[in-house]
Amino acid sequence: MSRRDALRVIAGLIASGAASISFAAPRVLAVRAWPGKAYTRVTIESDVELRFLLTSLSNPDRAVVDLSDVRADATFQQALDALKTDTGVISRARIGQFRPDTARLVLELKSRAETAAFVLPPVGQYQHRLVIDLTPLDADDPIAEFLAKLADRETQLERMQEEASRGTGGTTGSTGTGIAKAPAAPAPPTAAPPPGQSAAARPPPASPPLANAQAGKHTRATRPWVVVLDPGHGGEDPGAIGPAGTYEKNVVLAIAQRTKQLLEQDKRVIVFMTRDEDVFIPLADRVRKARGVNADVFVSIHADAFTRPDARGSSVYALSERGATSAAARWIADKENQSDLIGGATLKGRDPTLAKMIFEINQSITNADSAKLGHGILTEMRGVNRMHKDRLELANFAVLRAPDVPSILIETAFISNPEEERKLASPAHQLKLARAIRSGIRRYLATQVVRA
Ligand SMILES: [Zn+2]
Repeated sequence: MSRRDALRVIAGLIASGAASISFAAPRVLAVRAWPGKAYTRVTIESDVELRFLLTSLSNPDRAVVDLSDVRADATFQQALDALKTDTGVISRARIGQFRPDTARLVLELKSRAETAAFVLPPVGQYQHRLVIDLTPLDADDPIAEFLAKLADRETQLERMQEEASRGTGGTTGSTGTGIAKAPAAPAPPTAAPPPGQSAAARPPPASPPLANAQAGKHTRATRPWVVVLDPGHGGEDPGAIGPAGTYEKNVVLAIAQRTKQLLEQDKRVIVFMTRDEDVFIPLADRVRKARGVNADVFVSIHADAFTRPDARGSSVYALSERGATSAAARWIADKENQSDLIGGATLKGRDPTLAKMIFEINQSITNADSAKLGHGILTEMRGVNRMHKDRLELANFAVLRAPDVPSILIETAFISNPEEERKLASPAHQLKLARAIRSGIRRYLATQVVRA
């Protein structure tokens, strides 16, 4: 190209509109929808940061998003197919050219919803994103629901215990919860015997009796253990992706669901999942949920990835306050902590009010329990997969920062390793992992009897 040609091209560019030179008009690349029970998220990905104005309207309920310098063109129309059908709280979505320089996205809602929108800078596989969250006002509160379930279970256990002590004159010979003695015990009968039938007439319970030396109301004997399982990632955040295309978010959810099933075979254990669907939950929310349900144990479930495909094995982590035990641990912690950037967390809802001193005291007690929990799980995991490092590792995972809940994070395997990816995707192997996690948790709970 001659110098003259080059000048002509530049002149042409200027003539085609100064706007396109002073800033680039955003192009919508994709629209994704993540309908969840708690909220519905819509993500609009673009090559340049979107400037937007979000308005909520009622009668009928709708969220209106005006996008500056965006064309409601065929590409955008096509991308909107993600919202064509019934999507969570959204009944219908449409776009139009509201003004020559503004495209208008209208989300028609099934019910009133709190709306929020924010932008995320490019990260991982994503370019610029505008995130729109629609939280139905009539959505169920999973924590309140869980606490009601917990209270019911407590009543149930109290009744069982009363029956047991009336029928057998007290089974105080058994100490502790018996959890460690029968890790694979099936569920004890849950229903109280019909009136007239004594507890002694029942077949002997398959697992040790609930009553112990502390028999009575509001003791460890009748308060179920609350286990929080935290499947990593979800929704917009796939987590690590295996060479064959397996998503970490999917396998860890499957493993957590299996673990929940196994744990709840014992009526003295009740499980809360930080997510039980393909939805993104910010890291701080996961911690907040664990505290909200008064968790005894928090177990975050992940699958590793590393730049080298031959990296393999399982790892168990507890929180380190300063520094990680190894450079790899720090690298992995940084990666997991990126989840909020990828999944998209707003800054609201953080709790800055925890008093520092109480926090630190709690934290040191909790750290000791976390280590015990971690060792229990490590012991069980050895039987299922080889360990990446055969010791409890310490790293600064954001999700382990509840000051009063013993918390660990399991990297079940390396999804970046083709062989381990295959295993992670196999239901049989998922079940093996779930059994190991269940047994590890029970091992820990059995040491906690005195903490009534
Ligand atoms: Zn992960």
